[in-house]
Amino acid sequence: MIMLKRMNPTLAAFVLILIIGAGASAEEGMYPMNELGTLDLEAAGLEIEPVAIYNPDGLGLVDGICKMGGCTGSFVSDQGLILTNHHCAFRAISDASTAGHDYLAEGFSARTGADEFPALGYTVRITESYRDVSAEVLGAVTAKMTPLERTQAIEKKMKEISLAEEKKRPGKRAEVNEMFIGKSYVLFIYTYLKDVRLVYAPPKAIGNFGGETDNWIWPRHSGDFSFMRAYVGPDGEPAEYSADNVPYRPEVVLKVSGAGVDDGDFVFIFGYPGSTYRHRTAAFLEYLTGTYMPFTVDWYGWQIDHLENLAPGDRDRQLALAARVKGLHNTFKNYRGKLQGVDRLDLLAKKRAEEGRLQEFIEADPDRRERYGEVLASLDEYYRERSADIPSELWLRYMLRSPRIMSAALTVWENAQEKGKPEMERERAYMDRNIDQTINRLKVIADNFDAEADRLIMTDLLLRAGDLEEWADMEVLDGLTGLDGVEAAGNYLGGMFADTDLMQQEYLLKAMEMSPTELEELQDPFLELAAALYGPWVSEREEDKSRKGELDQLQAALVDVRQEFLGTDFVPDANGTLRFTYGSIEGYSPQDAVWKTPLTSVRGIMEKDTGVAPFAVPELMKELIAAEDFGTFASDDLGGVPVNILYSTDTTGGNSGSPVFNATGEIVGLNFDRSWEATINDFAWDHSYSRSIGVDIRYVLWVTWKIGGAERLLAEMGVAPDVVKSEPGPDADQQ
Ligand code: ASP
Repeated sequence: MIMLKRMNPTLAAFVLILIIGAGASAEEGMYPMNELGTLDLEAAGLEIEPVAIYNPDGLGLVDGICKMGGCTGSFVSDQGLILTNHHCAFRAISDASTAGHDYLAEGFSARTGADEFPALGYTVRITESYRDVSAEVLGAVTAKMTPLERTQAIEKKMKEISLAEEKKRPGKRAEVNEMFIGKSYVLFIYTYLKDVRLVYAPPKAIGNFGGETDNWIWPRHSGDFSFMRAYVGPDGEPAEYSADNVPYRPEVVLKVSGAGVDDGDFVFIFGYPGSTYRHRTAAFLEYLTGTYMPFTVDWYGWQIDHLENLAPGDRDRQLALAARVKGLHNTFKNYRGKLQGVDRLDLLAKKRAEEGRLQEFIEADPDRRERYGEVLASLDEYYRERSADIPSELWLRYMLRSPRIMSAALTVWENAQEKGKPEMERERAYMDRNIDQTINRLKVIADNFDAEADRLIMTDLLLRAGDLEEWADMEVLDGLTGLDGVEAAGNYLGGMFADTDLMQQEYLLKAMEMSPTELEELQDPFLELAAALYGPWVSEREEDKSRKGELDQLQAALVDVRQEFLGTDFVPDANGTLRFTYGSIEGYSPQDAVWKTPLTSVRGIMEKDTGVAPFAVPELMKELIAAEDFGTFASDDLGGVPVNILYSTDTTGGNSGSPVFNATGEIVGLNFDRSWEATINDFAWDHSYSRSIGVDIRYVLWVTWKIGGAERLLAEMGVAPDVVKSEPGPDADQQ
């Protein structure tokens, strides 16, 4: 359950016995790249030198991947072609679609470079280098500081380091990330590309086959992949979208293998896993699973019920809402999986028991008792207080974020407050270096705005506020919460919507230029509501920073004493930075007497076909399967093209789109999900149930070629030249 790095010998022997006993090479740990040297990867099955993966003094395979928003992508051609998930490109695909050209339903295939569709708001980061800056960051803290001052000093120092670095290296992006809470910080330097385009996406009936029924479930048959492309200015430098831009030339191009994998094969993955919480206490888990997650599940479930079928027969509105509904579903189901997992594993009791032993260890030594005696009790107290506040905190957050019109109004209002401040004192979204992204986000909101959806959401939130003491008679809401029932609230809001122009993109962008007084003069009802809630919002944020200052010190002390107790160092929790994990293609047993094997094939697609979404197999695919027209991509064992693969790596959200490599460093799959039991991974990984799910690369190639007719992409990747006739890449169209 813990992430062991350098173990004491007895513990190491014990873990080794467990691993050997299990007959597998998987291990918990999302390792930062500089930890690779501590792993015996050769024994695990790696057939190349670790330095070929990560080379601090030169290039390695890691230089062939990128971070795309919350996902990972791989450069698979020297023309900036990126392989990632369908669900990662989902918003770009739905943005490109209209009722007349429904690429989400039919698939998107750019015939030439000029047809590739600009994906507004998408960016690409390629990690160039990183270094530990903990001493510098923590040097900004003094013993006399209050918790709030501590957080502010750390934040300011992190920004200063980033800005100083960006000044030295124009065109690069520098970010400082917290690795262990309150304890260690690393500066990452990225190449940062802002022109990203959609190249190929299969129809949703393939890219999201099985939909929410199959999401987070094995066995799976989803073609969750798509291709995008990064562009730069004609001078090779990062640039905003322009028709004159040219494909980016990555330093490392990853090799796609047509050969595939088998049960038992060693695999490894790297990418940008988002967040895990394995170093947190039982009290944190209680807070999350007792209040935060149930509240969110309830609220997301409500939104799904109301938004999913909001616009029957109106395809344009459905497209505008599609990415949002998909996101809600994904979190909704993931949280339910986690809540079930916590019960199934009796995780709280196990954590409490471990903490009991830790407390005994602390008490056994006077010096330790002096330093750490109160840590666990203080963390308990901290989360108890947080739990009590959660419903009203979340209400405010959801009120200002879930209705898109409120999210836009808050951004405009906050921007007006922030832009007068010196760069270093502004909230991140409003710093000069981030403001373009913030504006792009507003454009996306305006493009996909649906007044009825927002009105429904706000109606429900206003009625919910009546049950929350803090908000029930809040003066700033000006009687809004006293409204009597759905109809009254709906009518009131209807008046507000009739009185606003905020969702017109031009107006919205003009408002971003205005001062608070100019905004007040607009008398826009949503800006007024955002302004009224802004005070509580800022107090909440300050309160959060103050709590973080307190939490940082407790969490840092906890990691120190646990390391002493267990005689080991840990791998830091995932935090959106580059990490490595390895394991093997293997099945698992989710229940008594059930063993799930690790490869699915097109046979399973036909078995699931009902003719009705999300299990409606496209006609062309049925014909190809019936004719066994598999090119070179079929597996003899499976009797058809393999579709999805299951493996025992340690991944989480953000690893979506990560390449899955074989022992020689060739891409054999594309990570996109985890099994139901592995949704609990974010709190506790275990070899018996932790499985990640990927698309077999043979299915990616087969679909792109046979369904998408995009042989040119296979040729561009240098795959199977004997079966695919070669065609020019996008350069030919650009010049
Ligand atoms: N499908 C997942 C996601 O939503 C990937 C994962 O969490 O393993 O990001």
